Amino acid sequence: MSGDSGSTTTSKISSYVLLIVFITLALSLVALIFAAAIVSGYFNLGNDVTGSYVLLALGVLGVSLSTYVLVQTRRRISKLKIVVPPVMTTIECRKCGIKNVRDFQRGDYIFKEIEPCQKCNDKMLITAIYKEVKEKEKERFQF
Ligand SMILES: [Zn+2]
Repeated sequence: MSGDSGSTTTSKISSYVLLIVFITLALSLVALIFAAAIVSGYFNLGNDVTGSYVLLALGVLGVSLSTYVLVQTRRRISKLKIVVPPVMTTIECRKCGIKNVRDFQRGDYIFKEIEPCQKCNDKMLITAIYKEVKEKEKERFQF
């Protein structure tokens, strides 16, 4: 088997959905073509053109439905990819107790001495490195 197996189940489901969507799309396009053919008189059905209207309606419905599903699944996939919590670094001054939180930078480690404190000019220490996990809140916010 080839390809990335990182997000196995979700990508499998979405590719299955995509297949169904494309089949629906193809079928509805065929329905539209048939409808056009009947209306233009390519198929001689006499004066009865109600069948073409049914085909036309089915075609439009199919196209709009599959487009809708396609947009929805794309949105869901991009949502899944976003969930990468940022790594934060907490910096503390042991003298005056000032606390700062900033993005993790390469080379950060706990108890590393970094730039001097803005207040007392004493050296500040990294006291914590953690991942900021707010998945549920984030999802709600993005929706
Ligand atoms: Zn300080």
